[in-house]
Formats: sequence, structure tokens, C-alpha cells
Amino acid sequence: MKKIPKEQSIYAFSAENTPVLHIDSGERVIFETHDALEGQIVDENTPFDGLDWSRVNPATGPVYVNGAEIGDILAVSIEKIEVAARGIALCGKELGVMGEKLENYAIKSIPIESGAAIFSPKIKLPLNKMIGVIGTAPAGSPVPCGVPDLHGGNMDCKDVREGATVFLPVNVAGGLLALGDLHAAMADGEVGVTGLEVAGEVTAQIKLYKKDSPKAAILRLPAIINEEHIMTIASHEDLDIAVEMAVANMVQILEKCKFSGYDATMLISLAGDVRICQVVDPKKTVRVVLPRKFVKF
Ligand code: CA
Repeated sequence: MKKIPKEQSIYAFSAENTPVLHIDSGERVIFETHDALEGQIVDENTPFDGLDWSRVNPATGPVYVNGAEIGDILAVSIEKIEVAARGIALCGKELGVMGEKLENYAIKSIPIESGAAIFSPKIKLPLNKMIGVIGTAPAGSPVPCGVPDLHGGNMDCKDVREGATVFLPVNVAGGLLALGDLHAAMADGEVGVTGLEVAGEVTAQIKLYKKDSPKAAILRLPAIINEEHIMTIASHEDLDIAVEMAVANMVQILEKCKFSGYDATMLISLAGDVRICQVVDPKKTVRVVLPRKFVKF
């Protein structure tokens, strides 16, 4: 299997990035990834003022998928996420939901042992390993890896995990897929501004769906499908608008499956959860989570 070292990474999704790997549809790739701060925080005493903020959210790649053309879809099936034995979390002044109230900064270095994050001697948290940044090159100007949008990016969605397939748009030839920013644990909201940020490795299979395929006809992107659910994801500076975008996308998917707009809206109202992914990035991200049995490809 082809493996991309973590040194081959980008700080912005861009049509101008040079691919580090060319693959055919259906190939599996191992992405080695830095943590979101590129390993700059070595322990809890690392001076916050000394951090280089130009080196954050690196995403490993980009990968050029042979034959991918504008309008096609890349499906990234996440087979395995492996994380390092220690990660970091932080919060502080001007960061996250509590940024106005916190006067200083705090870093917590958190060991990961036997499938649990050791938050404190008394608090062990179960891991929910996930990918924070995953995306393709946008059609227009470069988008920093810290920003989520229609191309994916820093969605910080805890359903981007093992067993999920993430569907992303092809906006430029080859798609130029990259991913990184693993979290060993994170809750919806990511209110403090980080998850349990950790280096690691992702094994994924990447498939190309052409623009005339049933999936491309039905899906609205970005989207996730796992064993039980289909999800639409949307990001916007205004959380209310992000909700409207994600719901409208799911309604459109259901309309393609012969539901009227009214029935689709009521079905989502009764059976589709609207969940917050994160509220701390430059755009906020939400997802609509609906049982996949209602969507037939
Ligand atoms: Ca993130």
C-alpha cells in the first residue's frame, strides 16, 4: 500500500498544490499525519507565545486521483485511524467559546492508554478517534486548512471516523485530496478550540464516482455515509445559516429519492438529528444525521 509521510503536507487547500501521489480509483493509501500544531507543543510548559501559527492544521497530501474531473465525487472510506500514545488539548484567552472569559492559557498533555484518554488520575475518557481536516482543492482561491467549507476542510466532525465514507467534491482535475488534524477524542462543539489533538496514521480507500453516476446525482456535498446513517454537512460563519444549508441539502437528497419537499422536511423533522460539529473555527459546522434506509441509490 502507498504511504504518504507527514512531511508531505499542506497548510491550505489549493488548485495550485503539487500532488505528492497519483492513484487510481479504488486504491488504498496510508496518510501519516502531524497533530494540528505540527508537534510544536512538546509538553504543558511549552510557551504559548512562541507558537508559530503559520504551521497549524497541516493536512497530508494532496493526492491526485487519476481520471477525476470537475463535477465528479471522491469517496474516502476510512478504514483505520491509529493515534500516538499522547495528545494535547488547550484553551485560553481569545480561543473558543470561553475565550472572552479566560485570561490566560492552559495546555494539557494527555496520555492515551488501552483505548482511553487519561484526562486526570480519576477521569479516563473513551477514545472516539476522528479526522478533523479532510478536503479537496476548492474551485477558487486557496482555503487555509483551518477553515471548513464546501470542499470539506476543517469540519471537525466526530462522525469522520473509522467505518465512515466521506464524500467530497472534485473541483479541480485529480481532486487533490488531503487530510490531517486527528483527534483521539472530541465532543460535538469542540468548545475549548481543540479536541485531543494527536499525530497518527489514517488508512483510507479512495473511490471516484463520475458526475453521471447515481451517487453524484443524489448526493449533496460534503456528505458522510456510515453503516446506519447518511449525513449532510455545512459550514458558515452564522450557525443558523449552516443549519439551513445542511437541512436544505438533505431535503434535496430526499427529493431525488421521490419525496416531496414537504414530506422530506417533515421526515427530517421527525427522524433526522441536526447536530453541531464545531463552533470554534472561522466557519461553524453542523450535520444532519438521517437513517440511510430512506435514501436509495
Ligand atoms: Ca480542527
